[in-house]
Amino acid sequence: MPQLRDAVYWRGRSTDLVMEARAFIAGAYVGASEGETFAVCSPIDGRELAQVALCRGTDVERAVAAARGAFERGGWADLVPRQRKAVLLRWAALMREHAEELALLETLDTGKPIADTTAVDIPSSIYCLEWFAELVDKVTGEVPACDPQFLGTVTREPVGVVAAIVPWNYPLLMATWKFAPALAAGNSLILKPSEKSPLSALRIAGLAREAGIPEGVFNVVPGDGETGRLLSLHPQIDCLAFTGSGAVGRQISRNAADSNLKRVWLELGGKSANIVMADCPDLRRAADAAAAAVFSNMGQVCSAGSRLLVQRPIAGAFIAELLEAARAYLPGDPLDPTSVTGSLIDEAQYQRVRQYIELGKREARLLLGGEDCAAVPGGHYLQPTIFATDATSRIAREEVFGPVLSVIEFDGLDDAIAVANASEYGLAAAFWSADLGAIRRASRRLRAGTVWVNCYDELLDMNFPFGGFKESGNGRDNSVHALDKYSELKSTIIRC
Ligand code: NAP
Ligand code: MG
Repeated sequence: MPQLRDAVYWRGRSTDLVMEARAFIAGAYVGASEGETFAVCSPIDGRELAQVALCRGTDVERAVAAARGAFERGGWADLVPRQRKAVLLRWAALMREHAEELALLETLDTGKPIADTTAVDIPSSIYCLEWFAELVDKVTGEVPACDPQFLGTVTREPVGVVAAIVPWNYPLLMATWKFAPALAAGNSLILKPSEKSPLSALRIAGLAREAGIPEGVFNVVPGDGETGRLLSLHPQIDCLAFTGSGAVGRQISRNAADSNLKRVWLELGGKSANIVMADCPDLRRAADAAAAAVFSNMGQVCSAGSRLLVQRPIAGAFIAELLEAARAYLPGDPLDPTSVTGSLIDEAQYQRVRQYIELGKREARLLLGGEDCAAVPGGHYLQPTIFATDATSRIAREEVFGPVLSVIEFDGLDDAIAVANASEYGLAAAFWSADLGAIRRASRRLRAGTVWVNCYDELLDMNFPFGGFKESGNGRDNSVHALDKYSELKSTIIRC
């Protein structure tokens, strides 16, 4: 991936980029059956990028029939595992060949900086696909102890037809976290990207065909919430993996219950606590990490460290370091490789974050930011914003999903853990201290799916499961545990 491209290069490339705007069903790109489309605009400057197929009932039916047919025929599920691995690796290789194009598509579609999409979004997606491809032929079953007159085996089988509904903050990466393990496990899949960011998913579908993924095994149905709702109600879908908001997660769970009790896996929101104790070994590093934890990707990160808890004796010194560190996150033109942050995803998200900032100005003390930036006309650029507040304010409790940090002072370890855990969410937490005993106590007592100690956002590696406690969801993406979501365990008992 070339790192020395400048903004002129990326702007030039974006003018001749061909964007696929059709759905991908049964191995072919197709328009929506009713011919309906929706506009996809770039958050960078508001310019329209494409009119994308709006999939409705007939299209969803076609996609489900294609996925179901492919699964029943067994051309994918029954492949020798190493052949499935070879196809998935070929797909990853094609994505790597097209990495620059995919990074540009993702930046144009989401307004996130090209430095991130070239270094994080696209390489991490490819790595995820490779990781699960490599896992396919290493899966083993069990032969439990039993009566010697019998032989019993426990094996994994694909669930069948999986639907993946994903958000817009890391469009390709969140999609890959779902389709890579689901396809590796032998399922057929229907992907519903967010209407705000469907382009990378549509592009990689053609690469899937080129790699040899059989017809019907991988389908993409662009659309809106209604398209997702139809999937959640469909009786021929066996499993639905969702990343997004708690409100939609609840609706999906209800719809699953009202239809065929499809398995539902939810990766939802967060309000993760980043706790800095007075004996934090390196305040400068902790301040840099605290700023990155909440301002990267314009704060549109489910595991963002959006609550910073600082022990009172060092609060003044730490906040001074933090204000300094936060200045690195002033947004710039997303197509300029030196920009560290870019635009929020759209007007609605911008308005939502602005409302929280106005609320914060009333109920808390503004320490930094709170204003717009004019990085590129037509986009939605916000300054990194920091409030000092107490733990009960709305700004300190609710997920903002924007570049807004709440700083809360505390007295002792027990207070910090009580505040951290007094949240409906439990996605991630971090703890900074030099005291091994305190580290051990905190990491055990923090109710979160990931706990970072003396770091933040590190090792988001395929080897570690990622997901939430409490209302941050159920099930885990990444790691071998992700296969649990997409496979059934079967006990076979043979009388010998
Ligand atoms: P969202 O509004 O819940 O949307 C997520 C997906 O669901 C989108 O594809 C959306 O389609 C679709 N959808 C909307 N209404 C639906 C319905 N009634 N039935 C089925 N699907 C429906 O969330 P978002 O605003 O895109 O993303 C932000 C949220 O995601 C935040 O809460 C964030 O914390 C969470 N998130 C969590 C993780 C994690 O791993 N835990 C990662 C990233 C984001 P349209 O967009 O087309 O309406
Ligand atoms: Mg978009």
